[in-house]
Amino acid sequence: MSEPAEDSIFEKALKRLDTARKYATIDEETIQRMQHPIQMLHVSIPVRMDNGTLKIFEGYRVRHDATRGPTKGGIRFHPQVNLDEVKALSLWMTCKCAVLDIPYGGAKGGVIVNPKELSPMELERLSRGFIDKVADFIGPDTDIPAPDVYTNERIMGWMMDEYSTITRRHSPGVITGKPIALGGSLGRSAATGRGAYYCIKELEAKRNWDPHQIRVAVQGFGNAGQSVAQLLHRDGYQIVAVSDSKGGIHRKEGFDIPSLMKTKNESRVLKAVYCEGSVCEAIAADKITNEELLELDVDLLIPAALENAITTENADRIQANVIVEVANGPVTLEADEVLDAKKKLIIPDILANAGGVTVSYFEWVQNRCGDYWSEEKVNTRLEQAMRQQFEVVYQLMEQHQISMRTAAYASALNRIGAAVAATGTARYFSGQE
Ligand code: GLU
Repeated sequence: MSEPAEDSIFEKALKRLDTARKYATIDEETIQRMQHPIQMLHVSIPVRMDNGTLKIFEGYRVRHDATRGPTKGGIRFHPQVNLDEVKALSLWMTCKCAVLDIPYGGAKGGVIVNPKELSPMELERLSRGFIDKVADFIGPDTDIPAPDVYTNERIMGWMMDEYSTITRRHSPGVITGKPIALGGSLGRSAATGRGAYYCIKELEAKRNWDPHQIRVAVQGFGNAGQSVAQLLHRDGYQIVAVSDSKGGIHRKEGFDIPSLMKTKNESRVLKAVYCEGSVCEAIAADKITNEELLELDVDLLIPAALENAITTENADRIQANVIVEVANGPVTLEADEVLDAKKKLIIPDILANAGGVTVSYFEWVQNRCGDYWSEEKVNTRLEQAMRQQFEVVYQLMEQHQISMRTAAYASALNRIGAAVAATGTARYFSGQE
């Protein structure tokens, strides 16, 4: 094996564990295990394109750690997917499931592709082709995928169907984030944003915020960004800026989020509009870039797009005092130091966006029992889980005077470490415990 590159995102993810280990009660073997994903699969997927030509796509599935249960994590379709990134994302899943105390380990998958360039039928062939190549690797008791960046319910449905065809067994529990009609859970599609919303509500209570006074900027107006913006808007928060991959809009008076969602989801274009019924009218707003959005004078910044949005390049220009990481890894290791020094509060990804995997777990439980829950039950259980684990992390932060990120990793390590210890460590085998 070659030496890991200095800018390896997996190595940087491990450094965060290294910082947190001092605040967790764990055996050294826990860290040793975290350093090595248990299985990594690299696949080539031949796809017949609509014009008759053959195209080969490359994909990965990494199972990081299975000490606490079957491995769990999404599949992303994105041109920048690479093995190092998938490894880092799988490690974050291990930690995320532990922070929420969900009985899963972590995994992640990805295919190098820009799905926006594929026709619907090409996308279906690619989705089924990927499952064909990883079918021996995944399963309801071993490794359970889900949606991630640029994958959605429909893709999960195709994937579940393909797996069921291969195994000759209806297997809804092999994948989560499915359409409701194919065994998906009510409340799953909004769950990532809703989980982040409960974290913000916890903070609102601690800091005595008046929502009407809180200005919010949301980078990334996809599934998670839309849900959190919608819930905050409903409570009176001022959503003054939003963006998608093509750029953003800014308006001091705030936006009507249901109107933005309506046009974005109907036309795929983010426009400053106000809708009454089905009639939408353009409203005055400034066009801004994604970079400008991050540096706006707001109270709450929600990066909900991709990794590495906030780096040492822009960290010292971030004005928001609170950052809620709805994306995975939007703040780099180095940028963390700059923001910590400025006393910014970051609600870290492994807590803030864990609502998605929490409801994925509920979906899997429902699939396995064949007993389906009401949306109210899903949301109530999600709220309980998020608020409870937010408190655990917040208390660790206050007790040790550390960042919320370090506290979240310490909480994860405590739980992973307990499972590692239960299997027996060197201390046990040498008779010391
Ligand atoms: N892709 C999501 C995440 O990063 C969801 C994973 C899941 O539901 O398994 O947390």
